[in-house]
Amino acid sequence: MHPRGAENEGSAMIDLHTHSTCSDGTDSPFALVKKALSTGVTTLGLTDHDSIAGWTEAITAVAPQIELALGAEISCLTPDGISVHMLGLLFDGEHKEIQQMLEDSRDTRIPRMRKMIELLRADGINITIEDVQRTTPLGATLGRPHLADALVANGVVKSRDEAFVDLLHNESKYYVTHAAPTPEDAISMIRRAGGVAVIAHPFASRRGEILDSSTFAGMVAAGLNGIEVAHRDQSPDEQRALIAIATELNLAITGASDYHGTGKLNSMAENTTHPAQWEALEAQADARRVIRK
Ligand code: AMP
Ligand code: ZN
Ligand code: FE
Ligand code: FE
Repeated sequence: MHPRGAENEGSAMIDLHTHSTCSDGTDSPFALVKKALSTGVTTLGLTDHDSIAGWTEAITAVAPQIELALGAEISCLTPDGISVHMLGLLFDGEHKEIQQMLEDSRDTRIPRMRKMIELLRADGINITIEDVQRTTPLGATLGRPHLADALVANGVVKSRDEAFVDLLHNESKYYVTHAAPTPEDAISMIRRAGGVAVIAHPFASRRGEILDSSTFAGMVAAGLNGIEVAHRDQSPDEQRALIAIATELNLAITGASDYHGTGKLNSMAENTTHPAQWEALEAQADARRVIRK
């Protein structure tokens, strides 16, 4: 059915979740694709936070050895205030409603950043919005990693990681959420735009509060296609629990690096997706949108 997939079975290396300078990664979209090529990645997902701004540039770097699955990682909040990340892949980038959803999310990150800075400053920490603007690439989705970079530049902490551990993690008194769609709303939007929805690192308990396993059925009803299982922030037990849920609910299983360049320890393709799982996912998009040269 997919001769190309069958041919590549042995050498396929599928990494469906990575970030560029269009959000909080440190490689430009072009450099990200080149990095994937040199790593031997055969299918690369570009999933910047709440943005598709990197798609056009990434396409210019495509070579015959690699295919691109364009997407975005949509920040969501449950009604209980639990942070959820939803990967949308292979949706139509011209779809007005999804563009609006992403733009709304990016917009609310600006007042959210100002609030976090106010809280930090109230405790005597040396940081201003201008400092953060200097560490944020032009047009990038503004996030805590940019704030972390500014704290590093100001000598408050030594690294992004230290900034998160000490000051910026989800349970920190300086943490502020931004307005975001519910996971179900993001899923149905991704599906209306023709793409597939994969919930990112749902059981990454080391990041903060996680979803209850009973909430997956509702997301499936909204159109969820897959679960990201192999991810460094999920323990072997957490991954086993997710495989059981995916099997019961007939969802695809993915693995990915969540590569952020030098912004995080994650190496490109440190976790990957089995070709059969990717084929099953791709078949659920409403058109063949993988970019090939
Ligand atoms: P935000 O979207 O602004 O809430 O920021 C969340 C981002 O912070 C996610 O993309 C994570 O990849 C990143 N992040 C979380 N923990 C760390 C860490 N310890 N070091 C670097 N980046 C992190
Ligand atoms: Zn990120
Ligand atoms: Fe994420
Ligand atoms: Fe991510």
